[in-house]
Amino acid sequence: MSGEKDHYIVGVFVNEHGVGTGHIQTQCELCKKRGKPAEYGSEVKCAFRDDGVFTKDNWNCATMNKLRDIALKLGHHIRNDSDWGSFGAVPFDDDKHSGFIVMTWYKSRGKTDLAIYVDDVETKPLTIEMAEAAISYWEERLKP
Ligand SMILES: [Zn+2]
Repeated sequence: MSGEKDHYIVGVFVNEHGVGTGHIQTQCELCKKRGKPAEYGSEVKCAFRDDGVFTKDNWNCATMNKLRDIALKLGHHIRNDSDWGSFGAVPFDDDKHSGFIVMTWYKSRGKTDLAIYVDDVETKPLTIEMAEAAISYWEERLKP
């Protein structure tokens, strides 16, 4: 919400789904909105640190789950359970970026192991700002 300071909430949080505990960071709007669904056995760990950069210490971050879904919908996905695990890529283009978010994970588990941004000149760690830009880019285009 505008006017609120960005910060981690580690411990108890409250949202429209009720009261839960976990590692919810207010910069990640999707985690903040979703909270911890009742069917999740473990606590949510948002994939974005308080500086907005991706961390592999995550579980079921709502933003990463959405990016993985977009990669699947676009067909930019390879799954190999016996060897390499899963790969997904989400291309996007706006006034600051023109490249791909590349992710790896295992089966359909909640942890995303790797997430980076690549374009024709550089590779960068994924940030919440890039992730949200890619999601809004595709939400418009993937509307039914
Ligand atoms: Zn998150």
